[in-house]
Amino acid sequence: MAFSFFGGVHPKENKWYACDKEIQEFPAPDLLVIPMSQHIGAPCKPLVKKGDLVTVGQKIGDNQGLCVPVHASVSGKVKAVEAKAHTSGTTVMSVVIENDHQNTLCEDIHPRTPEEVNALTPEEIIDIVHEGGIVGMGGATFPTHVKLSGGIGKVDTVIVNAGECEPFITADDRLCREMPERVIGGLKLIMKVFGLKEGHIGIEDNKPEAVKALRANLETADGIAIDVLPARYPQGAEKQLIYAVTGREVPSGGLPAAVGCAVFNAATCKAIYDVVYDGMPLIRRIVTVSGDILMEPKNLLVPIGTSFNDLIDACGHSENPYKVLSGGPMMGVAQYDLSVPTIKGVNAITVLGRRNEYAVDEPHCLRCGKCIDACPMKLMPVLMYKALQSEDIAEMKSVHIMDCIECGSCAYTCPASVPLVLGFRVAKQLIRNDAAKAKAKV
Ligand code: SF4
Ligand code: SF4
Repeated sequence: MAFSFFGGVHPKENKWYACDKEIQEFPAPDLLVIPMSQHIGAPCKPLVKKGDLVTVGQKIGDNQGLCVPVHASVSGKVKAVEAKAHTSGTTVMSVVIENDHQNTLCEDIHPRTPEEVNALTPEEIIDIVHEGGIVGMGGATFPTHVKLSGGIGKVDTVIVNAGECEPFITADDRLCREMPERVIGGLKLIMKVFGLKEGHIGIEDNKPEAVKALRANLETADGIAIDVLPARYPQGAEKQLIYAVTGREVPSGGLPAAVGCAVFNAATCKAIYDVVYDGMPLIRRIVTVSGDILMEPKNLLVPIGTSFNDLIDACGHSENPYKVLSGGPMMGVAQYDLSVPTIKGVNAITVLGRRNEYAVDEPHCLRCGKCIDACPMKLMPVLMYKALQSEDIAEMKSVHIMDCIECGSCAYTCPASVPLVLGFRVAKQLIRNDAAKAKAKV
């Protein structure tokens, strides 16, 4: 049974730009920039230096603690190890690789037979996922092995997030249409880790082809239900998806495991399948490159480290991009330097022209309250923004800014185009800085 979450909006989907474009393999460019930080947690330390030769899938960065390794996506020579521009807007230590176009595979990479996979224990699967550098690929980039190990004994319901409710983005839709067996195979591995006999795939009803492909690859004995949910933004947000599929509400400040749930993006499931069966770490991902000024929007299978510029150029554009986002127009992060590389969490590059409705930014609140009706977390965006403007940390906390899931429904519905989500990201950072300062004083 599907439950209906509070709030949300119906933004113009604009999926038609790319939803019928088959996934194309993007040829690796001559130069790739592989950042040491592509996940939530401690950045990797480079394991290679300038002049070293590397092979496809070779580990080139790792660290202790909350961290996953990064791997070379091509073979070639390390040209530099230095700070480079990153989608976060900062610079990050990165390994720059000159591609030799030989595609020489790392000798550590070995596929497993189905029998070998069946014999793996949950701990061994978690270890393989860790070594494969797998993170949440819907944009969250939380290390997947930590979510798996932390959920054992707590999780009774696992849900694949194939919602993909953001406008323009079609990467997961195409993935489910073209490689459903890998999404389902990844889910089965997750079910094995948690010791579950049942699993769910949550998907919006605007993706009938993907639903059909997934159903065609399922057998009753798999114990996997396809939950077709009404298309409404942000149906693909973790807490909203959990509510829609199970009727359970994740408490304020809580994690999905608090209500026995764990959610994995469809692309993450494929990445788990790839590393367990093929032995291939996360070195490529599907990226939708779309937008109103692109000549030919595409869904591309992209080597990690490929620049946004290369991908945008491959699609062609009819005018100079006015706004380029890493991600979609609701939750994406505007990019000012298009030399930034594609990293594990980039599911889309949205390229907008000056006249696009999603490209407007002129802030002045009209006090209309529409943002309050739209918020799926039952927050008061107008008051949260006011608290930010007054730089009042106590007030920011009291209006629960930290509970904001940054879905962008409020900003979308706001007739004055107040940059609410951007403001809430800043506010959260101010709260975190304040907490760190307080801790340092103790
Ligand atoms: S306040 Fe946060 S959670 Fe609520 S609609 Fe705005 S971005 Fe989404
Ligand atoms: S929707 Fe926009 S204009 Fe209306 S109250 Fe909220 S922030 Fe202000």
